[in-house]
Amino acid sequence: MNKAFSENPQANSKKSLKGEAQVDRIYAHVFDAIVDHRLQPGTHLKEDELCELFGIGRTRLRKVLSRLAADHVVELVVNRGAFVARPSVDEAREVFRARRLIEGDLTRRAAERRDTGMKAALEQHMHCEHEAREAGDTSRVIRRCGRYHQVLADQADSPIMARFVRELIARSSLIIAVYEAKAPSECEIDEHRLLSDLVVSGKADEAVELMNTHLQGIEDRLLLKASHKEQNGLISSLGSFSP
Ligand SMILES: [Zn+2]
Repeated sequence: MNKAFSENPQANSKKSLKGEAQVDRIYAHVFDAIVDHRLQPGTHLKEDELCELFGIGRTRLRKVLSRLAADHVVELVVNRGAFVARPSVDEAREVFRARRLIEGDLTRRAAERRDTGMKAALEQHMHCEHEAREAGDTSRVIRRCGRYHQVLADQADSPIMARFVRELIARSSLIIAVYEAKAPSECEIDEHRLLSDLVVSGKADEAVELMNTHLQGIEDRLLLKASHKEQNGLISSLGSFSP
């Protein structure tokens, strides 16, 4: 067999693996920037600037943008390009309704399972959330608050629904960025602590009820009406990235 021919598939496969890993990293970087409010809703994700920042070609960048669009955090507009999604008031209400339904069910499942690692996972998260608050880092607090809901959803041993929660949390973050009241909308840490206690002690009905009022509380603190906020520059929002 021709040596070059036999080696090529392996080399190509390594190359494409590296390419996929790069797409994964850039996707995670932009996703986090959106969830952390560094990239504001409505920001134009200009291809030429992003290709230069990340040191990649358009084909690879478009893979990243397509994945973000599949998560509903980016909108692809024909002939105009990609934009950070700006959820409407109706979408905002729909997202919180979906969260109450799905997270209510996951909370019940988690409370009924009461897995041994659950208490440690929830406690570890509460510690991180407390640290972010003590540091007065608003963007980290908002991220940690969203993360709490993911940590709890992951305890329900229901990966398909937990994946929905990931998307809904990211969309909630965009909603909070657009519709937040003067004080940043964030979860009440005492409610997270109480929710954890109820889940860990298997009090499913009470835990579901608290999750429901907790999510309703976040929605109620938003100013759900048409809003226009100033956007930061694309490059300064994404910060440094080493390709
Ligand atoms: Zn919360």
